[in-house]
Amino acid sequence: MPAPAARYAEPGNAPDALSVLNSVFGLPAFRGAQEEIVRHVTEGGNCLVLMPTGGGKSLCYQLPSLLREGCGIVVSPLIALMRDQVAGLLEAGVNAAVLNSTLSFDEASEVERRLLAGDLDLLYVAPERLLTPRCLSLLGQASIALFAIDEAHCVSQWGHDFRPEYIGLSAIAERFPDVPRIALTATADEMTRKEIVTRLGLSGAPSFISSFDRPNIRYEIVEKQNAPAQLKAFISERHAGDAGIVYCLSRAKVEDTAEALSKAGIPALPYHAGLDASVRARNQDRFINEDGVVIVATIAFGMGIDKPDVRFVAHLDLPKSIEAYYQETGRAGRDGKPSSAWMAYGLTDIVQQRRMIDESTGSDTFKRVSIGKLDALVALAETAGCRRSRLLGYFGEEATSSSCGNCDNCLSPPQLRDGKVAAQKLLSCAYRTGQRFGAMHLIDVLVGRLTERVTQFGHDKLSVFGVGRELNEKHWRAVIRQLVAMGHLRADSEAFNALKLTESARGVLKGETEIMLREAAPGTRIRVSRTKSRRGDLEPRAEAKPADAPLQAALRAWRSEIARQRNVPAYVVLHDSTLDGIAAARPMTLNALRDIPGIGDKKLEHYGDELLAVVRAADA
Ligand code: ADP
Ligand code: ZN
Repeated sequence: MPAPAARYAEPGNAPDALSVLNSVFGLPAFRGAQEEIVRHVTEGGNCLVLMPTGGGKSLCYQLPSLLREGCGIVVSPLIALMRDQVAGLLEAGVNAAVLNSTLSFDEASEVERRLLAGDLDLLYVAPERLLTPRCLSLLGQASIALFAIDEAHCVSQWGHDFRPEYIGLSAIAERFPDVPRIALTATADEMTRKEIVTRLGLSGAPSFISSFDRPNIRYEIVEKQNAPAQLKAFISERHAGDAGIVYCLSRAKVEDTAEALSKAGIPALPYHAGLDASVRARNQDRFINEDGVVIVATIAFGMGIDKPDVRFVAHLDLPKSIEAYYQETGRAGRDGKPSSAWMAYGLTDIVQQRRMIDESTGSDTFKRVSIGKLDALVALAETAGCRRSRLLGYFGEEATSSSCGNCDNCLSPPQLRDGKVAAQKLLSCAYRTGQRFGAMHLIDVLVGRLTERVTQFGHDKLSVFGVGRELNEKHWRAVIRQLVAMGHLRADSEAFNALKLTESARGVLKGETEIMLREAAPGTRIRVSRTKSRRGDLEPRAEAKPADAPLQAALRAWRSEIARQRNVPAYVVLHDSTLDGIAAARPMTLNALRDIPGIGDKKLEHYGDELLAVVRAADA
């Protein structure tokens, strides 16, 4: 093992990873595979790290960079992300810098000088910059601890986020064969993984693959009734004062939703490609830097946003696939604290997505694959079982238990009833009306409503007219959605979304296929009172002591002020979890404060006295 960088060594001792984790980052223990990865890389090994968002990838290269001789070079595609990471490291007393196009010539020269002087622990470099002859020759002269390639899936041409400049990164292995390389990504699929290994020269190196479960995220999918009202209720009852992201498909809906939330007193800002770049940047900055801002956005928003304290992600429209749903909801709760993934969806969403696929210019294969993906997502939305085990199952991961205890279906299991007769009525209604009508009309016929259309087509004369009066419209919609999810019925976008029977519908009509249907959900099935403690009831694990709300508020106010003064995002100063830890423990001494996760040596030195003063003032 090479000589460690002296800065982090106890006098006379080689520093061990755990003591640096504690002194610099203020953390008491490694999480999951971190320890093994840190050891492997510190000893000079290459590897691939697959960990979900929020899993703690950064420490996997930051610690070895501190423990090894020389500077760790981090390749990262996103400038905003580099900036925030470096700000956080500087706060923790690590000598970190960036080298990218935002620097002036003089600033860049200064960074280069510090690198050569051995004055840097970590240097974040944009890929296109790294590959310039100037930079490669600079690195050739410097002492390099390791190369970390973050967002490594960007090398994959098949992936969803291909970046041509990443292809050139294969040069690293060729030019610096003896420097360890660690590639990191949160994208799990096999094909992408293989491509990373080939392109970055990692064959033979171990892969560290973590579970993709995000246990702190509570999944909840509700039936869409009055979406804006449902969203407002969700936010005000469960996430008042929290930061969150609301996803909508269209720009107009983004604007309307942001306005409706603002009117309801929820600080919400729009974000979509049609807004002026400066407005977009300002809204994004406010979301990142201020506490409790809700951003309403099209899916373009979120990539490269590292904000750890996003407490909820809400979908007002159906995403394209489970991959997209997982990625978008994954932006909640990076800090590991309880967070919600909430989605309101209805039959029209399925029809709309289906139409988008059919009308797209993609090949037939593309359309077939897209439809398959949409079907899988609809099945997730309609399942009566655990959402989490469905999600993990989709990614090829076996859930540890069939009930996670932290999704709507586990917390309040839907009633299942025999739906064979209802399904038969619905399917034969679609059949007898010629498979030419949408949900609304079929329901009119079933409940025996004499609308103009019903009489016009003589559907009141059919045997199915009025045979479904035992269920109301809402129930029938739920039946239709589930039959679509089960694949017995599909909406044909080329025929005005007429509902058509599929091959498998025959078995249902003949009574050969059993059909269990979930009772229509009343909409907001999880009601959480937030009057006692702000998050107490959302907490999946019991906390030792409930955090004290006034002290929590005082700490947040203090943090906002510091963040403003230092011009960094609030979470760079201290994470929510650290503030909550302080509010719960009420430390009275610097020693006691140092025990709170997130308070390392430098933070104690900078903020210790002020934090104790805030705690004391709250006690007075
Ligand atoms: P990723 O890059 O995998 O999305 P990060 O490296 O940003 O995740 O880490 C996510 C969050 O988890 C951060 O808030 C970080 O401080 C926290 N974290 C990481 N490792 C640990 C640990 N061992 N103990 C406590 N918190 C941790
Ligand atoms: Zn569950």
